[in-house]
Amino acid sequence: MRKVYNFSAGPAMLPEDVLLKAQAEMLDWNGTGMSIMELGHRGPEFQEVAAQAEADLRELLFVPDDYQVLFLPGGATTQFAMVPINLLNENKKADYIETGIWSAKAIEEAKRYGHVNIAASLTERDGLLYIPTQDEWHLSEDAAYVHYTPNETIAGVEFQWVPETGKIPLVADMTSSIMSQPIDVKQYGLIYAGAQKNIGQAGITIVIIRDELIKSSLFLTPTLYQYKVHAEHHSFYNTPPTYSWYIAGLMFAWTKQQGGVAKIYQQNKKKAAMLYDYIDQHLDFYQCQVHPDCRSLMNISFSLSNEKLTDAFLTEAEKNGLTNLRGHRIAGGVRASIYNAMPMEGVEALLHFMDAFRLSS
Ligand SMILES: *Cc1c(COP(=O)(O)O)cnc(C)c1O
Repeated sequence: MRKVYNFSAGPAMLPEDVLLKAQAEMLDWNGTGMSIMELGHRGPEFQEVAAQAEADLRELLFVPDDYQVLFLPGGATTQFAMVPINLLNENKKADYIETGIWSAKAIEEAKRYGHVNIAASLTERDGLLYIPTQDEWHLSEDAAYVHYTPNETIAGVEFQWVPETGKIPLVADMTSSIMSQPIDVKQYGLIYAGAQKNIGQAGITIVIIRDELIKSSLFLTPTLYQYKVHAEHHSFYNTPPTYSWYIAGLMFAWTKQQGGVAKIYQQNKKKAAMLYDYIDQHLDFYQCQVHPDCRSLMNISFSLSNEKLTDAFLTEAEKNGLTNLRGHRIAGGVRASIYNAMPMEGVEALLHFMDAFRLSS
């Protein structure tokens, strides 16, 4: 047993079983006498690891056959550029939904390559952060795609619904929500997710892209920024981040062992509800700034009514083995990230601490 529960927003905690397996296989992967990170990426051993990871991810998310699954270097931030570079068409126009810091960064990057229409922005309702419903959006008719961030990791704001964009492809940055709940891949043209939240360790990014969106890009586009090149080479145009890919594979296998995404979703809902319910029952002490219709399943952000107590709360929590609860440097307050790997016992320990802290303050 490890001694702390790590509530970091990312890189996030991994299941102990995954770490133990990686440890056991570190020096001698599958009888090769070598570590997986020392094996050639084009050799049969690594090729099998890679193919199994993709097959497991396809199974977990029910990815249809007309979608490619790519394992790409760089983070989600790389995708902020790759999406416009590859998907913008002649009129160079895209719609973006701005719901927080990550979508704002995606917008800034897209502006370098085309015209961005911000079709909707985060707003407030009853004094709480709120995502406007689609009837209030201003989508363009000729956008190449609509980009949104289903879960804004920093403020803890999440869509409880999927935007309807008709024939215009929907692009989603699922970095902090992928595999937390079932999705219908067909509703999206492109999904991307950096690995370090629900998929494993940093260094690799998953892209799930509908075949018809894979096109030739402009001549000056760097080779590694072209989906077409990665798709044609099955993500092996150059040396991929092999160890990150291997860890992602271990995470997918673990997720399957847990009963798959639908099963994990039930667990995730329970974990989040326990925290939100407790906060709502003690509004004189703890407060969540997010409207109940758009609260995040993975990143529970809240503050102490008496802000002066925040530092004491965080220090005491740390002493109790509850670590990385400080809110993002921009948002402040407290944020408990409870990705798939956070066990129920971790949430119970946090609740127990929150109650004790409240009673002793
Ligand atoms: C963490 C995060 C990112 C940034 O990922 P990097 O791998 O650091 O580029 C982007 N979008 C969302 C929603 C995130 O949670």
